[in-house]
Amino acid sequence: MTPPLEPPPRNWRLRWISEPLLKVFRRITPRMSQTEREALDAGSVWWDGELFSGRPKWKKLRQLPTPQLSAEEQAFLDGPVDELCSMLNDWEITAEREDLPPEVWEFIKKNGFFSLIIPKSYGGLDYSALAHSATVMKISTRSITAAVTVMVPNSLGPAKLLLEYGTREQKDYYLPRLAAGEEVPCFALTNPHAGSDAGAIPDYGIVCRQDFQGQKDVLGMRLTWEKRYITLGPVATLLGLAFKLYDPEQLLGQEEDLGITLALIPTDTEGVNIGRRHNPLNIPFMTGPNSGENVFVPLHWIIGGQERIGQGWRMLMECLADGRGISLPALSTGAGKLAARGIGAYARIRTQFKLPIGRFEGVEEALARIGAYTYIMDAARSLTATALDRGEKPSVISAIVKYHLTERMRKVVNDAMDILGGAGICLGPRNMMARAYQGIPISITVEGANILTRSMIIFGQGAIRSHPYVFKELEALGEEDPELSLEKFDRALFGHIRFVMMNSLRSLFHALTSSLFIFIQGPSPGRRYYQHLTRMSAAFALLTDAMLISLGGTLKRRESLSARLGDILSHLYLASAVLKRFEDQGAPKSDQALLHWSCQHCLSEIQQAIDGLLQNVPNRPLALLLRWMIFPLGRHFSPPSDKIGHRIAEQLLIPSSSRDRLTDGIYMPKDPDETIARLEDALEKVIRADHSERKLRQGLQNYKMDHRGLEGMLEAGIENGIISTQDAELIRAADAARTQVIRVDDFPQPPVN
Ligand SMILES: Cc1cc2nc3c(=O)[nH]c(=O)nc-3n(C[C@H](O)[C@H](O)[C@H](O)COP(=O)(O)OP(=O)(O)OC[C@H]3O[C@@H](n4cnc5c(N)ncnc54)[C@H](O)[C@@H]3O)c2cc1C
Repeated sequence: MTPPLEPPPRNWRLRWISEPLLKVFRRITPRMSQTEREALDAGSVWWDGELFSGRPKWKKLRQLPTPQLSAEEQAFLDGPVDELCSMLNDWEITAEREDLPPEVWEFIKKNGFFSLIIPKSYGGLDYSALAHSATVMKISTRSITAAVTVMVPNSLGPAKLLLEYGTREQKDYYLPRLAAGEEVPCFALTNPHAGSDAGAIPDYGIVCRQDFQGQKDVLGMRLTWEKRYITLGPVATLLGLAFKLYDPEQLLGQEEDLGITLALIPTDTEGVNIGRRHNPLNIPFMTGPNSGENVFVPLHWIIGGQERIGQGWRMLMECLADGRGISLPALSTGAGKLAARGIGAYARIRTQFKLPIGRFEGVEEALARIGAYTYIMDAARSLTATALDRGEKPSVISAIVKYHLTERMRKVVNDAMDILGGAGICLGPRNMMARAYQGIPISITVEGANILTRSMIIFGQGAIRSHPYVFKELEALGEEDPELSLEKFDRALFGHIRFVMMNSLRSLFHALTSSLFIFIQGPSPGRRYYQHLTRMSAAFALLTDAMLISLGGTLKRRESLSARLGDILSHLYLASAVLKRFEDQGAPKSDQALLHWSCQHCLSEIQQAIDGLLQNVPNRPLALLLRWMIFPLGRHFSPPSDKIGHRIAEQLLIPSSSRDRLTDGIYMPKDPDETIARLEDALEKVIRADHSERKLRQGLQNYKMDHRGLEGMLEAGIENGIISTQDAELIRAADAARTQVIRVDDFPQPPVN
């Protein structure tokens, strides 16, 4: 027998540094559950990797193609999407019918709205993520109920899971039926006992044999589940179901606990209870509970067949990331655009104290936020869609846009409601914001509730997945061959040490030199922002490592610290998206205020997050050292000035190319009695009459409004030669349009029983 080979002699670095450190790492690294590991493995690293690098390669971002719809996609938006929007009467849907009308359901199904992601070979539309996003966005500016109805089958509806993991038979059978609208799908994961912690669902299946639909002794599973909040559930014909599969009789092999598994169940299967509805805050899309007890289904109903048993969590994580990056970001941006267009116009039309309310500084501040947040949202929405269209699965970035766009929608809609005052509070067909306001908590809660997303997911997943070395170190720990494990660990560790040293030096140097020595190609009004963001990326990388080293595995439980690190990463991403969008649109001069406001806001949010983090880091000497390295000359960034805010507010108050670009993609109704059309009409008339009104007001300074009202003023103005009869006509038209706009709905008393 030949003796085993001697391991090669180790160099001193391996022996004295890496090997002892590997032992320490093994001890302090928290054990990851299978579900956590699968969530981490899901998706790909994209621009988030650059932001974690401390040295983002801006050229890579700037060279990405400008987001562009194909001619076919644009025709779909201008054709069927517009037609669908024209069929939607949101008041009728939300207050009277509490459902979409049957002809709208039919139109949605027949015109491929449920098949945006299904390939043409199966009869689907096979549109890009950008088109998918534009479709949801436009519909949401008309009816959130309809937008959510369209969203679900195109995100986590079983189509996505089938496309990625289905067997050939499953794809061939279900995809054409889903594309043609013959099936209404839903996906059921949430259980009353497992919401955010969905990996802990108690729903289960037991592998067994049973006679089924005339066949003897079929290998299958007996499923027991209780689900709630399932969108489209009450009307679904096809139920995607997540459950844990057990094989106590070991009919499939040696293991009993097989893990989370997904199956497709026709809802007419015996034992499926489905149909009841919840009322999601008066946004009456179909959502409700469903359940089953010992419902037998054959094993080939598992998505992807027997070989996908136990892979359900990973499958869900992969597919959820895509949908999360598209649907709610599109809906949020839609709300922003609608507010920017409609509330901007309202603030110009509505006068108080003899001035348009939009000219008061307090209202300007809210208008500026509406405009700039919408700009940020639209930039992040389209950049993320571009990444998805390039085949990326950026799970960290999807979480960023889900959280930050829904949060910005919350702020924008609140600002819009404040500007509307009482007109925002009276529900009715004239109120364009109330349903968005009511529906906000839905977007905040679904597809990963926001508090959880901010405090656990964005940085928690990013630090491991997108960091250039941490994932490699963890992989080295998981390596079974001890020699290989040490070698890989050594390489990752020393790369990591170099990385920390470089980021420390660069943070300090760029802070002392105000980022001036960072080279950015080409002239651009965004140049200084690229430089400052590079500096903040280095600071972020340094902070990430400082927190990982000082807190180790406990960082996972320090959610407030993790959330602030996530905020830094998120604002680096949002500012990147803003710069990209500004350049993609040809760097228009009229958008410079939006660019400056958005970038200054992001930088100041980053600074605030760093400050909050350093104030709360438990190791105080380390916090002081980090503060000295990142802000040696004190805080550097200020929030956007009132002057920039004023310029943005002005842009929302009058028709302009900047306003059109900002609100591009919303539905503009042709019917002049629609609220948004009424606002557009009144805005034009009010602006046209502005000069005449001013002449009249100045000329009749001592004139008192009396019972003769406007007509009396006009007469006096004409008599005294202050205005012409044409001026009077303009003023009359503006007044009539304004009166229409400021009207609110009233209703008769409900009958007393
Ligand atoms: C209208 C609607 C439609 C839905 N559609 C579907 C669907 O089609 N299919 C489906 O399967 N599910 C669906 N859901 C379920 C949705 O995904 C869950 O509501 C969501 O996961 C949150 O679960 P929960 O509501 O039980 O809240 P909980 O899990 O009870 O959370 C409550 C709060 O605690 C926070 N929280 C929880 N854990 C942590 C933590 N570790 N750190 C910090 N904060 C934490 C959350 O952020 C949240 O703010 C829908 C829900 C609604 C309301």
